[in-house]
Amino acid sequence: MSIFTKIINREIPSSIVLENEEFIAFKDIAPKAKIHILVVPKIEVLDFDSASGELIGKIGTFTQEVARHLGIKNGYRIITNIGQDGNQEVKHLHFHLLAGENLGDIRG
Ligand code: AMP
Repeated sequence: MSIFTKIINREIPSSIVLENEEFIAFKDIAPKAKIHILVVPKIEVLDFDSASGELIGKIGTFTQEVARHLGIKNGYRIITNIGQDGNQEVKHLHFHLLAGENLGDIRG
């Protein structure tokens, strides 16, 4: 079970900003920007590369909702790390949503 599934199941604490039946968004524990949210499907999917087009579409729509919910006005960045060369640490698909300042070369 991934650490994000434990968050989804409320087995470990997190700061949730938005949730629906299929997705959850919570604050990154080690924020790299003033706003750093992780957007995660509730089903365990390894990464972007192994996700269906349908899931990618839905998580994209949910990510837009998260940005609106947070009142982000000046733009934001979404990043998903994939596999070894992508430096993906948590093996459960997630998008980093970074915002709240000029992001320069900040990445998730
Ligand atoms: P990645 O390298 O793309 O797999 O990113 C994993 C992200 O998960 C990192 O930014 C971590 O800071 C974050 N993270 C790991 N554990 C937790 C946790 N318990 N709650 C919130 N964020 C976490």
